[in-house]
Amino acid sequence: MIQHKDMDDPRVREVIVVGGGLAGLSAAIYLGRAQRDTLVIDSGHSMAQWEPKVENYLGFPEGVHGEELLKFGRQQAQRHEVRFTEDKIERIEKGDDGVFVLHGKKSYHAKRLLLATGIFHRPPEIPGVKECLGHSMFFCKDCDGYRVQEKRIAICGANDEAVEYALGMLLYSPCVMIATNGEQPHWSEQHAAWIEEYEIPVHTVRIADVRHRERQILGLRLENDQEVKIDYIFTTRGDIFHTELAEQLGAKLDQDGQIVVDHCMRTTVPNLYAAGCVTPANCQMIIAAGEGAAAAQAINRDLFEESLRNHSLRRFREVQLREEETVPEGA
Ligand SMILES: Cc1cc2nc3c(=O)[nH]c(=O)nc-3n(C[C@H](O)[C@H](O)[C@H](O)COP(=O)(O)OP(=O)(O)OC[C@H]3O[C@@H](n4cnc5c(N)ncnc54)[C@H](O)[C@@H]3O)c2cc1C
Repeated sequence: MIQHKDMDDPRVREVIVVGGGLAGLSAAIYLGRAQRDTLVIDSGHSMAQWEPKVENYLGFPEGVHGEELLKFGRQQAQRHEVRFTEDKIERIEKGDDGVFVLHGKKSYHAKRLLLATGIFHRPPEIPGVKECLGHSMFFCKDCDGYRVQEKRIAICGANDEAVEYALGMLLYSPCVMIATNGEQPHWSEQHAAWIEEYEIPVHTVRIADVRHRERQILGLRLENDQEVKIDYIFTTRGDIFHTELAEQLGAKLDQDGQIVVDHCMRTTVPNLYAAGCVTPANCQMIIAAGEGAAAAQAINRDLFEESLRNHSLRRFREVQLREEETVPEGA
C-alpha cells in the first residue's frame, strides 16, 4: 500500500470520505482494497444505529442490529488499512491546485473527495414519539412495513404522500388510519377519493401525546381527549439532506435538495463524488452501500487514468521483472 507520507505532498490524502455510515464504509472497503490512501472522517450519527433489527440487508437471515453492521463495516475497512477519524467537517474549499481542504477540529487535504453525509429523518413533533424511534415509530414502509403486519398503524401527515403511504400499508394491515396532528389536509381530490374508496379513517385533531410503554406505542391521545389505540406510527414529515458541504463547493442539487450525481456518483464538481441517502437514491442501507462501492470504483478509475496521463502510474516495483526472474528458485 502506498502510504500517506509517500505522496508528492504528504499532507494530501488520495481520498477522503466524509461520512462513515453505510455508503462511506462500503466505499472505504473498496478504496482500501484498491490500495488507495484513504481517510474516513465521521461525526458518528449514522441513521443505521437507530435500527435495532435490520431485516432487509443481504446476508443476515436473522436480522442484524444497525450498530453491528456499522461495526463490521469499519472493521472490514480497517483490515484494508483505511484510516478513521472522528470529526465534524464544517467547511470545505477547493484550492487552485485542485486540492480539497476540509476544516473540522483539524484541517485535512485530499485529491478526491466523497461526500457520504446522509440525511436526517425528522420525527413528528409530538411528545412521547422520539422515545419510540426505530421500535414502534418508523419512517420507511419498505424497511418496516413487513414487520408490522396485522397491527394498528397511524400514518402522520396531511398531504398526498401520507395518503399514498396509508394506501401502501393496507397490504400489511387491515387497520390503517391517518393522523394529521391538527394540520388541515391538503391532498388532491383524487387522493381524497381513494381515502373514501378504501375507507381510511382520518383524525384531524392535534395530538396531545403518544402513550407508550418500553418504547412500544399504545395509543394517541388527541387534544379533544379522544384516545386512539394504535401500535405503530409512520411519518412522512420530510427529510433534511446533509448537503451543506456540497453546496459550499458549488455542487448542483436537485429540486428535492439532493446532490445531483451521474451513474458513477460523480457530482457536477470535478473530483467530488457523493453516495448514499444524500443523493437521489432510495434511502435504503443496501442501496447506500451499493452507491458507496460505485463511487469508490469511479474514484479509483479516475485516479488511475490521471496517473497514466501524468506518467505517474503506481507500480508494485519501479521496474518490471523479466519473466524468468518471477520463477521461484529451485522450481
Ligand atoms: C429509525 C430508522 C430505521 C431504519 N431502518 C432501516 C432498515 O431496516 N433497512 C434499511 O435498509 N434502511 C433503514 N434505515 C435507513 C438507513 O439507516 C439508511 O439508508 C442508511 O443509514 C444510509 O446510509 P448513508 O451512508 O447514506 O447515511 P448514514 O448511515 O446516515 O451515514 C452518514 C454519516 O455521515 C456523517 N456525517 C454527516 N455530516 C458529516 C460531517 N459534516 N462531517 C463528518 N461526518 C458527517 C454522519 O455522522 C453519519 O455517520 C433506517 C433509518 C432510520 C432512521
